[in-house]
Amino acid sequence: MTKILAIANQKGGVGKTTTSVNLAASLAACEKRVLLVDLDPQGNATMGSGTNKQALKTTVYHVLLGEAAIPQARIGSEQGKYDLIPANRDLAGAEVEMVEFAQRESRLKTALAEIQGDYDYVLIDCPPSLNLLTLNGLCAAHAVMIPMQCEYYALEGLSDLVNTIKRVRAGFNPTLRIEGLLRTMFDPRNILAQQVSDQLQKHFGEKVYRTVIPRNVRLAEAPGFGLPVLCHDAQSKGAQAYLDLAKEVLNA
Ligand code: ATP
Ligand code: MG
Repeated sequence: MTKILAIANQKGGVGKTTTSVNLAASLAACEKRVLLVDLDPQGNATMGSGTNKQALKTTVYHVLLGEAAIPQARIGSEQGKYDLIPANRDLAGAEVEMVEFAQRESRLKTALAEIQGDYDYVLIDCPPSLNLLTLNGLCAAHAVMIPMQCEYYALEGLSDLVNTIKRVRAGFNPTLRIEGLLRTMFDPRNILAQQVSDQLQKHFGEKVYRTVIPRNVRLAEAPGFGLPVLCHDAQSKGAQAYLDLAKEVLNA
């Protein structure tokens, strides 16, 4: 069965896209069939997968508006060995344009239903906000992966997200679960990061992934080459951490 994971946190710059791209490539390296959906008008997952977002004719925007089906929008990431539904700035208009649609929160879910059997995993890279795009991601997903930096305000932001997930569960997607919390850009020498990490484990226990993603310059460089880190420097700590995460996800 296909597992659909929304990678979400309304806080910006916490590693959602880095996780989406590198988990997609790592699951593909484990012989899984993977589709990555870029649901952010910034198009970072698209660029990070080696696709020029400016040159695209068909994107997730057309899928959400019902102007294209997923087979028309998807492209292959040759290096990363996964498929991608790309996004660019057009997507910023989708929210307004979808207002008139009935069931506007489940447009992505409906589109994905048609191709589900094609993949083992569908990963959805959500934008840094709790808007209609993120709502589409959460309605389409079986579970949510929450990347977070272990900083002072992280736990506060987390309670907003947990409340949103509860509301989505009550209104649209009763079986939506939190798949796991992922500590990103982690620096073990930082005492505050250690403290926040301890609190996270105390509150969320088993929901916190054992894999910790370290701060690693190779992870930050790779998108500049349009590559997952596995294709940029497979031996790096960052690449190894995302392979470990893929194994944890596979064993879940
Ligand atoms: P946004 O909210 O804007 O979509 P995001 O949550 O998707 O951001 P990323 O784009 O993945 O976050 O990461 C933010 C920045 O931090 C990027 O420049 C990225 O390259 C860098 N980065 C992410 N993870 C790491 C890491 N483990 N080590 C070093 N740099 C990282
Ligand atoms: Mg992002």
